[in-house]
Amino acid sequence: MTFSDTVKKHGLLLERSQTTTLQVNVGLTCDLTCRHCHQQAGPHRPEQMSAAVIDEVIACARRLRFETADITGGAPELFPGLSRLVTALAQSTPKVIVRTNLTALARPEARSLPELYRSCGVTVAASLPALNPEQTEAQRGSGVWSASLDMLRRLNDLGYGREGSGLELILISNPAGAFLSPAQAQAEQRFHRDLERRHGITFSKLFTLANAPLGRFRSWLESSGNLTPYLEKLEAGFNPCAVEGLMCRSFISVDWNGHLYDCDFNLAAGIPLGGTRRHITELRELPQPGSPIATADYCFTCTAGSGSSCSGSTVP
Ligand code: SF4
Repeated sequence: MTFSDTVKKHGLLLERSQTTTLQVNVGLTCDLTCRHCHQQAGPHRPEQMSAAVIDEVIACARRLRFETADITGGAPELFPGLSRLVTALAQSTPKVIVRTNLTALARPEARSLPELYRSCGVTVAASLPALNPEQTEAQRGSGVWSASLDMLRRLNDLGYGREGSGLELILISNPAGAFLSPAQAQAEQRFHRDLERRHGITFSKLFTLANAPLGRFRSWLESSGNLTPYLEKLEAGFNPCAVEGLMCRSFISVDWNGHLYDCDFNLAAGIPLGGTRRHITELRELPQPGSPIATADYCFTCTAGSGSSCSGSTVP
């Protein structure tokens, strides 16, 4: 059964609510080639946002007043226009989030970014899939574990993830294989306990995410014979309570060319906003509540179990 038929079967409607978040994908260049990456980002990917599209994104954020701007990639740190984008969005948008794989933030060209983030009050959302080097490096590559811990300590030294600092440090964990994440609240307790006791690292909160069967993760599912069982697992795990909190109900994603999507997964799959190709320059007002959302088979990723989104579980 298709995703939209499954939603209907449960007497629900998948349509936009209030659009609050502009997610900005600045491009696909990355220093890592993680196995689960639905964007297939990597060092070999040249796609990056042009100066003209940065201007259009900044103008759009000024005109439409989103509550949140969420900057992602690739590794945003390898995008030369990042400082300009962050500084401008922080002036127009109450909350700015920048996603990081932590290793790119440690590169020489990113040296000044942590201080810039602090001065702009940016929330840092950092990938840390697991609490051990083996699982982390199986997904993200050798050397990533200790580089990630070093960067988390540096962020802590700046006040990020320290109680009372007002500087939010979110960790993001995703499974290593063809299964779903454990419950977010329990995983968060475990991460807090383990990182503080063993490494002296603190953070604000943990988001657990499911891997979407797209891009490099889909290729791995296919080559390992896990694609059909994983799709079946996602579909069987459909939780009607997860529909209300789906990110596509409140997000707009813009790619490096300025094209619009309902979410980052649709961006990766090339399925445009509401099914109709549009550019950010055409976005004169926010989509009305009730506007359509384009869906596909990978949407079951977002409704399986406790639900999954760029903001973690969607069901408490
Ligand atoms: S993949 Fe995107 S469109 Fe589909 S349910 Fe998830 S957030 Fe919504």
